[in-house]
Amino acid sequence: MVLTIAGFDPSGGAGIAADLKTFAAHNCYGVAALTALTIQNTQGVTASHAAPFASLRECIQSLFDDSPIRAVKIGMLATRSNAEVVAETLDAHPDLPSVLDPVWRSSSGAPLLDETGFAYLRANLLSRASVVTPNLEEAAELTHLKVEDVNGMRVAASTLIEMGARAVVVTGGHLADKAPDKAIDVFADETGIETFVGERMKPENTHGTGCAFSSAVAANLALGRRLRESIMLAKAYVAEAIRRAYPTGGGRLPLNHFYRVQESPRVTDHAPALAETAH
Ligand code: PLP
Repeated sequence: MVLTIAGFDPSGGAGIAADLKTFAAHNCYGVAALTALTIQNTQGVTASHAAPFASLRECIQSLFDDSPIRAVKIGMLATRSNAEVVAETLDAHPDLPSVLDPVWRSSSGAPLLDETGFAYLRANLLSRASVVTPNLEEAAELTHLKVEDVNGMRVAASTLIEMGARAVVVTGGHLADKAPDKAIDVFADETGIETFVGERMKPENTHGTGCAFSSAVAANLALGRRLRESIMLAKAYVAEAIRRAYPTGGGRLPLNHFYRVQESPRVTDHAPALAETAH
């Protein structure tokens, strides 16, 4: 089982729904603990209602009581008290692989974690997670540095390691104007810094890429893969899910998390043969 601790996006592009689809696409059974109900569609977030921290704690406990959890992905937390419940969870399960997506606000600008919550995440969750996956804006917010090009990503990644993170991937999907053909991510851990370069996939205007990436890393870790391999596989998965994004809604396109399933032969392809053997 793989657990996501995150918010719910009713339009299914980000948050818990996207995380569960990503786990399933990796052949992992996913479970979820809700931190907030957001009101949003593909055009943006219009409201967010935080879940009470006591129910988050109860939900996480109930899932851990039921079956072994092989990895956890942590996304939108909404409040400081929810972030504290996550710290308790990571302390209670020190060997559990954990991927922290330090979600701060949506692309449409809506806050997804309150100010004291973000300060708490920075001081207490960064160092507890196995790996942290900020985008450019989140890396800038965490380090108080400008993160606008690959060099800025490298400086931010090593600063996050100095701040106590065990491993970091700064995702450069938003570098479109600087590197139009490349999707560049910067990885750092205590041994050094590495740059992962992939092919940039269109359409660019997609929703929930950070959620899919961090969940795909968590699923690969749950399957027993090492961190670098998990990151590279997650990058390739997200690139293709972006390329196959659904042309739906009036805003940013939701990724196609299940493109691999759609590559399998369709049932109708077998239908004539089955019909022949039936009589
Ligand atoms: N909604 C929820 C519940 C999320 O967890 C996130 C990101 O993690 C978002 C919205 C924002 O996604 P995006 O910035 O891709 O729109």
